Amino acid sequence: MADVLIAGGGIAGSALAIMLGRGGFAVDLFERDRFPREKPCGEGLMPAGVAALDRLSLRETVGGAPFVGVRYHSGSLVAEGRFPPIHGQPSTGIGQRRWRLDEVLFNVAATTNGVRARMGCPVSRPLVEFGRVVGCEVEGRPVRASLVVAADGLHSRLRSALGLDAPLARHVRVGLRTHFRLAPGREQPPWVEIFLGHRHELYVTPLPDREVLVAGLAARDSLRRDARAALRDWIRAQPALAERLQGAVQLSPIAGRSPLSQDASCGVAPGAVLLGDAAGFLDPISGGGMAQGLLTAELLAGYITRYLSAGDAWLWEFERERRQMLRDYRLLTQAMLLLARHPRAAHLSLALLRFLPAAFDHLVGVAGGTRHLGWHDDFDGP
Ligand SMILES: Cc1cc2nc3c(=O)[nH]c(=O)nc-3n(C[C@H](O)[C@H](O)[C@H](O)COP(=O)(O)OP(=O)(O)OC[C@H]3O[C@@H](n4cnc5c(N)ncnc54)[C@H](O)[C@@H]3O)c2cc1C
Repeated sequence: MADVLIAGGGIAGSALAIMLGRGGFAVDLFERDRFPREKPCGEGLMPAGVAALDRLSLRETVGGAPFVGVRYHSGSLVAEGRFPPIHGQPSTGIGQRRWRLDEVLFNVAATTNGVRARMGCPVSRPLVEFGRVVGCEVEGRPVRASLVVAADGLHSRLRSALGLDAPLARHVRVGLRTHFRLAPGREQPPWVEIFLGHRHELYVTPLPDREVLVAGLAARDSLRRDARAALRDWIRAQPALAERLQGAVQLSPIAGRSPLSQDASCGVAPGAVLLGDAAGFLDPISGGGMAQGLLTAELLAGYITRYLSAGDAWLWEFERERRQMLRDYRLLTQAMLLLARHPRAAHLSLALLRFLPAAFDHLVGVAGGTRHLGWHDDFDGP
């Protein structure tokens, strides 16, 4: 019997499997899809996520194009927030295609001692005995483990089966994305650029080999017609972006996702933990979902290492610490979502932040996972 069964070999699940395998645990990792595969995402990994890849010694293997911060465009207003340094060193995020990032992490997990990893293998339901999760049903067979980790993404089947779904958010949003290769002579600057439109935002992430990702996020009720046509219209309405994309080759069809948020009423149950998006995700607007998935996987790996054989009480201790860790990031995300519903207020906030560069950098650091909301002079990232 494995120590830990992980359902979902995305970023959070695969990273946890690597950490636990390297720590000497026996892990069963089941992934529904087959890699390489595409997943709609903004593809910008924030600095705290890059630092987590570093700690796994995987930064070089993942590769990617660096970016130094976030540059907003609202009409003719341009405002930049740069990632604050970590331990005195400049910090960057990286843009990398999701198929590549996910494939690297899953393959490393699959070749880590102690990890048995299977692709194309969906987990269908948790097995519960006397009120405790004792394993899962996989391909019609029971697979038992001391602990089950549901890292099966935003629409987690295990979270629903365990009755841990929270009510859906009132304001439903849609995410769309596509990729381009820029024409020779055109460059994407090393920033994630965000173009604000009316009740939508466009995100442009630099990727290796002169590729860029263009993603659009919008309120679902603001889309009057075909969402794919809407993304093309939003791009055309931003002259700086439309010009940069002149002569570019579109590399991927427009893919979308909605709803973008789903919360959990609680992230743990006896014998089980939700991880990554499965534990709750508010919106991609603050760009840190992958980084937060990696950081919480690290936190969980630490708890498992210390307490796996000591009953279930630690699960609630872990949940408290995770909520504390994500508190500022979630507050910032909620504030940004509010501004997204009020474009004039968003514009005014950017106009103000342009005159407060240190405050702007600090907020970008909160989004990047390396700063708290409160101003701690001595805080230098995880
Ligand atoms: C439009 C959009 C843009 C985004 N932009 C960014 C961004 O720029 N930066 C950022 O950091 N984050 C971004 N995010 C968020 C980011 O994609 C997620 O936070 C991140 O992928 C979460 O990782 P995860 O491992 O928890 O889940 P996932 O990456 O979704 O992985 C879950 C895995 O579980 C597997 N699975 C599902 N069901 C089962 C099952 N029953 N059995 C076995 N396996 C199963 C899936 O196939 C998948 O591989 C964006 C999200 C969206 C929707």
